[in-house]
Amino acid sequence: NLYNMVQDLKGNIRVYCRIRPAFGDRTSNVIDYIGDDGSLVISDPLKPQKDGKKVFQFNRVFGPTATQDEVFMDTQPLIRSVMDGYNVCIFAYGQTGSGKTYTMSGPSGRSTKDMGINYLALSDLFQMSNERKDIVNYCIQVQMVEIYNEQIRSCTGDNGLSLPDAKMHSVKSTADVLNLMKLGEANRVVSSTALNNRSSRSHSILTVHVHGKDVSGSTLHSCLHLVDLAGSERVDKSEVTGDRLKEAQYINKSLSCLGDVITALAQKNSHIPYRNSKLTLLLQDSLGGHAKTLMFAHLSPEGDSFGETISTLKFAQRVS
Ligand code: ADP
Ligand code: MG
Repeated sequence: NLYNMVQDLKGNIRVYCRIRPAFGDRTSNVIDYIGDDGSLVISDPLKPQKDGKKVFQFNRVFGPTATQDEVFMDTQPLIRSVMDGYNVCIFAYGQTGSGKTYTMSGPSGRSTKDMGINYLALSDLFQMSNERKDIVNYCIQVQMVEIYNEQIRSCTGDNGLSLPDAKMHSVKSTADVLNLMKLGEANRVVSSTALNNRSSRSHSILTVHVHGKDVSGSTLHSCLHLVDLAGSERVDKSEVTGDRLKEAQYINKSLSCLGDVITALAQKNSHIPYRNSKLTLLLQDSLGGHAKTLMFAHLSPEGDSFGETISTLKFAQRVS
């Protein structure tokens, strides 16, 4: 199959960039050019001349007008491979307010319009399981956990200390999924920051377990991890103290550990430093080996985010 061939050629790590629409016109826009080939040119608002331009290369770039369906189309082959036994991790990385939650969950509110990857992925898995029901009997279960200050918590009930302990929910329809997401969202640790009071200071992980048994009796178990990472912005140590500072330090550490792991995998190093953070430890079985990884690097296009935009792009470049 063509997809598998392309996948083999490119390896198992891919990085997409997504740029959200600009908010109003209060500051300049740093996006200079978006190429169909995955190239992106940004310009430093303080250096409007040619030397302020920087070029980056991704597997794909989604501009501000890209729809949720367009983004999903390029994610779907990865999602579908879970039904064939592959483990998959999808990460949303970026500063607070750059669109991570929009990509993974969708816009806030009750409508099911513009739903994100989490919902679209699960409905696609249900559809596939239905299409294949004469050949394979699938069972789909989900867990919702968050990692806050290097501690894992279940978002939907019991307080398991590790992923295996976190509450497992069997889901049979998209309605079941929506209900769970609502519950999980309500329970997430949110605290207000100057940037965005819905911003979360934790990594939120929706894990989908797929168990399949075919007519010959052979079985498969694979996992899809959908990860909405905590905001990557560097905090000014002079401005935050106490709990906020501790949160920021945990976030910085775990994001840099994630970067280290993906970089080590991309370079095919013999030692992969999974044990340096809860996040990478939890996802260990789904990072590396035959597992597939997709990272979305989210950008805010406004000029006043330029510093964070550069730091997100550097992170993305390091892992690709
Ligand atoms: P983050 O999770 O990275 O903090 P959000 O996903 O909450 O950021 O996005 C910040 C705001 O921008 C939200 O109001 C969200 O609905 C909006 N937004 C983000 N991405 C898009 C997009 N691609 N199209 C339209 N609105 C978006
Ligand atoms: Mg968010």
